[in-house]
Formats: sequence, structure tokens, C-alpha cells
Amino acid sequence: MRYLIDFGFLKSGRVISAFRKVDRADFVLASQRASAYADYPLPLFKLQTVSAPSVVAIMTEALALEGGESVLEVGTGSGYQACILAEVVGERGLVVSVERVPELFDYARQKISAHGAENVELVCGDGSQGHAARAPYDGIIATCGAPSVPEPLFKQLKEGGRMVIPVGGTHFQDLLLVEKIRGKQVTRNLLPVMFVPMHGKHGFRE
Ligand code: SAH
Repeated sequence: MRYLIDFGFLKSGRVISAFRKVDRADFVLASQRASAYADYPLPLFKLQTVSAPSVVAIMTEALALEGGESVLEVGTGSGYQACILAEVVGERGLVVSVERVPELFDYARQKISAHGAENVELVCGDGSQGHAARAPYDGIIATCGAPSVPEPLFKQLKEGGRMVIPVGGTHFQDLLLVEKIRGKQVTRNLLPVMFVPMHGKHGFRE
């Protein structure tokens, strides 16, 4: 935790306090608990992973949340990132997180309810299409790599909103920060990353 601040991954008070409240050890598989604080991704099941803490920090900071926002996450996985976001947006905010694999959806549901986050709404389905029912969102975060920015996700982003999303191939991607400014995509390339692929209609074919 300390190194995330010392090396500048964590900057804002809200995100730092979220990292203090949400313990990664509670979200990883029991067999991985000894590595819970290592700065690398940890395996879940179905070949999916919980992202490295530094990457969770970078992506959360990139959304520049101040509390009270609604955020869409594509790829709930363990539920760790969703709980971090839930702390950052606070009680007045909402996190909608979409997971496509039913076993992970169930796993995350248990983990999130054990953590006690009440402002997280979980959806089982294809998040490459977003979740129109709760749109538009102030922020969108994809924790799986897409071939390009899925059009429905950009559409579901509010004017002035921010999206962080890995875009590239099925193994290596660029982490993009996409802002909606006067309806147009303004994109910054943050850093090279490795995420599992986003599948589904606007993702990669399985
Ligand atoms: N954010 C997670 C890590 C996610 S790993 C955490 O904090 O633990 C990436 C996840 O994206 C996997 O669980 C995978 O099943 C999911 N995924 C891939 N394509 C998806 C899609 N189209 N819709 C929703 N989830 C998807």
C-alpha cells in the first residue's frame, strides 16, 4: 500500500482511502492469499485474473472521481475493482458492474456482499454492449482488453465523462483514457498493459 503512494500510483485522498478500506486479500482465491499484496495479477478461475494493485490504482485515478458519480465497469472478475470504485463514488454514487461468466458473477456477488458495499449493482451479461438501463455514466472502466473502443460504451458515457479501457490485441493492449468532449472522443494513451480479452458483440470472438 505504502509503495503505491511513494511511487505515485495513488494520489487522491478518496482513492487512497478506498485502498485502505478494501482488502485485496478478501477478493483473491484462498490459494492465492499469501500473494495478495504482490504487485502482479493473480489468477481467479476460468483463466481470468485480478489486476495488479498498481494497475487498479492507475485506472481508478484516471477516472478523476470526486464522489457521487455513476460508473460502469466491464469485467467484474473478483469484485475487487468494483468495491474500490464503490468506496470512491461513495453512498451517493453508483457502480454498475457487468460480468459475462456466471461462475465469476456468483463469486463476485459473494465477495461484494461480504465487503458490505451497497452501491454496487451487478449484471450478468455482455458488457461490451454496456448497460443502457443505467446510462449515461460519468465514468466507464473496462478491465478486459477490447479490439477497439466499443461504440455502445462511448455512447453511454456522459458529456465530459471519462473512460479507461485497454485497447489492442488479445494479450497486449494500450490503456486508453477516452474523454467525451463536445460529443467527440479525445484519447490519451496511458501505458502498455496486459489484460484478458473482452469477449462479446463488440469484443473478440471466442
Ligand atoms: N476487475 C476485476 C478483474 C477482471 S478480469 C477484478 O477487480 O477482479 C476480466 C473480466 O472480464 C473477467 O472476469 C472476464 O470474464 C470479464 N469479461 C470479458 N469479456 C466480458 C464482457 N464482454 N462483458 C463482461 N465481462 C467480460
